[in-house]
Amino acid sequence: MKRLVILGGGESGIGTALLGKAKGFQVFVSDIGKIKEKYKEVLIHNEIEFEDSEHTEKKILNADIVMKSPGIPDTVTLVKQIREQGIVIVSEIEFASNFTNAITVGITGSNGKTTTASLTHHLLKQQLNVGLAGNIGDSFAKQILEHNYSNYVLEISSFQLDDIIDFKPHIAVLTNITPDHLDRYDYQFENYIASKFRIAKNQTKNDYFIYDADDEVILKWLEVHPIQSTLLPFSLTKMIENGAYLDKENIKITIDNNQIIMPTKNLALEGKHNIKNAMAASTVAHLLKIRKQTIRESLENFQGVEHRLENVLKINKVQYINDSKATNVNATYYALESMDAQTVWIVGGTDKGNDYQELFQFVNEKVKAIICLGVDNEKLMRNFGNMVDVIVETQYMNEAVKIAYKIAEAGENVLLSPACASFDLFENYEDRGRQFKNAVRNL
Ligand code: ADP
Repeated sequence: MKRLVILGGGESGIGTALLGKAKGFQVFVSDIGKIKEKYKEVLIHNEIEFEDSEHTEKKILNADIVMKSPGIPDTVTLVKQIREQGIVIVSEIEFASNFTNAITVGITGSNGKTTTASLTHHLLKQQLNVGLAGNIGDSFAKQILEHNYSNYVLEISSFQLDDIIDFKPHIAVLTNITPDHLDRYDYQFENYIASKFRIAKNQTKNDYFIYDADDEVILKWLEVHPIQSTLLPFSLTKMIENGAYLDKENIKITIDNNQIIMPTKNLALEGKHNIKNAMAASTVAHLLKIRKQTIRESLENFQGVEHRLENVLKINKVQYINDSKATNVNATYYALESMDAQTVWIVGGTDKGNDYQELFQFVNEKVKAIICLGVDNEKLMRNFGNMVDVIVETQYMNEAVKIAYKIAEAGENVLLSPACASFDLFENYEDRGRQFKNAVRNL
């Protein structure tokens, strides 16, 4: 019996434990932090051995294979020891993919993964038996065990990609690349780019690689590091023969001379970035032979994803928008770009080394007031202090929303798009977004 040791008792860890046990492994789960009660119950119920708040080396270094959860960096001593012993380390995606023959669509990128994966799933599910997994909802491993999907849409982070060996999505999507998580990549942007491109590393000519052809980082990388897959780029700015592009008001997607045309004016999701996401998702759907009319209709009736440019309420003709998931400058760039009226902007949190310059143009144009919502707002004050008439600070969501309510006038927007992580004042970005929505509803 092979011994499978799982580091990290979160969603991917528990899913891997269940799948591993079902496939005949001797399973041990170890987490240096606390494992959530609901997961402990699952482990106990399934008679899977585990420990938390510690790592017992002798129960770990005797593994045949280790599944390392994406949150654990390579620099941890235990991980180094495991590698030194020559034990194979894989990610959950890698482990799970060995136990399914389903067609997989792997979606990665710095921003837009969840939106694009959810939209792709929405398009495919109209006609196919398809699961949505990866960083969303139930883990891939658990779904393989519990469902019999013949297709999967997977949202895949760079951390999951770092520990793949043979994983090969039939269709890969790379939404964009901007600097993020550099603390895990020796502060080398190159390393992070290389990690993202691992999504294509096992692909062959019969597989597809869909990517943003307006993204200089991606284009430059491809020039120097060609990949095997059939390329299907998408672009807002240039004509694309094989792939997707914007022709005035229409998205045109061509694959093997088969073209689909979709008007952009009825798209459910607003903003240029969402036209890109729609292009990527529709290209996948077109490849998998979803009917053209179905693709068009589904793009129009998609409900969107919580905390991503989510319209909350209109009060006194002021639109309140929750974009709490914008935890970096690039995401906020697209949020501000998509604002069609003067905007009161709530921003701030844990700064990840932000360079705010690319936002200046939009702030000058569209932002009438800034509300800084963070423990340390000094950098925001320094960057934007001269740009707007009103800039205030608070550490309470309720207060931020009340101030915004006072400033915003009919026809304007109140936008929460923090460009920062949430951990200084909130549990996570979901907590921040929910607090925003509650505060708005209580106005
Ligand atoms: P991820 O899963 O990669 O974090 P999300 O879909 O959750 O991406 O979106 C994160 C943030 O980025 C949101 O604020 C969203 O509005 C914004 N966003 C969505 N798609 C894109 C895109 N293609 N380019 C840039 N920003 C995007």
